[in-house]
Amino acid sequence: MKQTVQSFFKRFPDDETCLVHLFESRFGQGHECPKCKRSAKWYRIKAERAYSCQWCGNHLHPTVGTPFAKSRTSLQLWFFAIFLFVKSRNGVSAKELERQLGVTYKTAWRMGHEIRKHMAAVDGNGPLGGLGKIVQIDETFVGGYKKGAKGGKDKAIVMGMIEEDGNVMTHVVKDRKRLTLYPIIKENLLEGTEIHTDELPAYNRLAYDRDYKYKSVDHSAKQYVGPEGESTNSVEGFFMHLKRTIKGTHIWVSQKHLSKYAGETEFIYNRRKRPETMLPELLTVFPQRS
Ligand SMILES: [Zn+2]
Repeated sequence: MKQTVQSFFKRFPDDETCLVHLFESRFGQGHECPKCKRSAKWYRIKAERAYSCQWCGNHLHPTVGTPFAKSRTSLQLWFFAIFLFVKSRNGVSAKELERQLGVTYKTAWRMGHEIRKHMAAVDGNGPLGGLGKIVQIDETFVGGYKKGAKGGKDKAIVMGMIEEDGNVMTHVVKDRKRLTLYPIIKENLLEGTEIHTDELPAYNRLAYDRDYKYKSVDHSAKQYVGPEGESTNSVEGFFMHLKRTIKGTHIWVSQKHLSKYAGETEFIYNRRKRPETMLPELLTVFPQRS
């Protein structure tokens, strides 16, 4: 799929082609009918966004289980909004969506959040590290943009874990204490991982944890790469990308929504070596939604 605006509209000239795309990539002819359990030919029902089973007439809705299911906004606009997110790589503001799509600000805002959630879901959260792998861990303060909020009070904390030359995973956390951070490490980093952090006391215990190898970087000594290659540079680079995304799209980001921006930035970062796969993936992969 070429990814210019022109090629996008050639591929998806109207709502119907978008619906056909969803049907074909998620189900396809011959798909087993969930009701009568037979491999079926599916007929398009023109009156609604649905297909009908040749045997029992059961309806299949290709948008169910996607971010577009309950929306009255056209599928083509949804697809185009996703296209804009993929093109920008640094986020798209609700204002920008409103302008480009010709929808209300409220609709644009909701679409943006649904797309961020979708990116996070498609990205998933597989474990990181393992034997011979290095994972950098760091935290950063984000936010405090809310007018009137006292300095730092409104800030949220994002913990980031990056496998060197691999994927990133983030968690929005309430503080930087061991009891908060340690369980996240144990849950998500495979045994044998070599972990690099700065000298935050919360990480001290890693030195005694036999599941991992541990090295810390002395930032106070301006030592960004230690004598044994220990570093948190990659995770700090990721945080810069995250902050750019938030700054470019928002006046302030509440703690509640921060994980969506982090999820969006993760999705983009984890595909940095194969950006051409982003759009097809977002338009064909729909993880089970809760
Ligand atoms: Zn059937």
